[in-house]
Amino acid sequence: MKIDELAALVRTIPDFPKPGIQFRDVTTLLADPHGFADLVGRMAQLAQPLDPQFIVGIEARGFILGAALAHAMGAGFVPVRKAGKLPGRTVGIDYVLEYGTDRLELHEGQIPAGARVVLVDDLIATGGTALAAAQLLREQGAIVLMALFAVDLPDLGGMAALEADGVAASAIIA
Ligand code: IMP
Repeated sequence: MKIDELAALVRTIPDFPKPGIQFRDVTTLLADPHGFADLVGRMAQLAQPLDPQFIVGIEARGFILGAALAHAMGAGFVPVRKAGKLPGRTVGIDYVLEYGTDRLELHEGQIPAGARVVLVDDLIATGGTALAAAQLLREQGAIVLMALFAVDLPDLGGMAALEADGVAASAIIA
C-alpha cells in the first residue's frame, strides 16, 4: 500500500472531544485489513533492527498497535495505563496537561533494568504523554530505543520535543 493511501484511511472528526479540535481517528485504518497490516509492517520495519525485548503501548490505542507489533516481532507487550487501572503494584509518573495533570502507571518490575524497549502510541501531538512514558521507563532503568507513532501532528512539535529529550522518534503518517 502506498503511504498516501494509508494516510487516507485515517479520518478527521471535527469538534471532538471539544469544539475546535480536529480529532484524527485511526479506527478507520484499523478496520481496514490491508491498512492495519501495512501500518504494523511499517512499524516493524523501523523497530526490528533495534531488537527490542518489549513493546510498551500507551493507553488506549497504543495497546492495539503495540500488541500487534509485539506479536509480529516476537517481543513482549507491556501496557502503560492511566492511574488506578493496573491490578498489581505500580510505579507511576505525574505529568502536566494543558488543563491540570494526569498520571501514567506501569506494573512494578515488569520492565527490568537494562531492558530494551520501543514505546508505541497511535498519535503524537505535543509529545507530553510520550515524554512522560519515556521518563517513567527510564526511571525503571529501561533503554528507550525509540518512540513510534502511527500519526504525527507536526505543527504541535511533539517529535522535536522527544528528540530534544534524547528519545529517537518516528511516525509513519505525518
Ligand atoms: P500529546 O501528549 O499532546 O502528544 O497527545 C497525545 C496523546 O493524546 C496520545 O495518547 C493520543 O492518543 C491522544 N491524542 C491527542 N490528539 C489526538 C487525535 O487527534 N487523535 C487521536 N488521539 C489523540
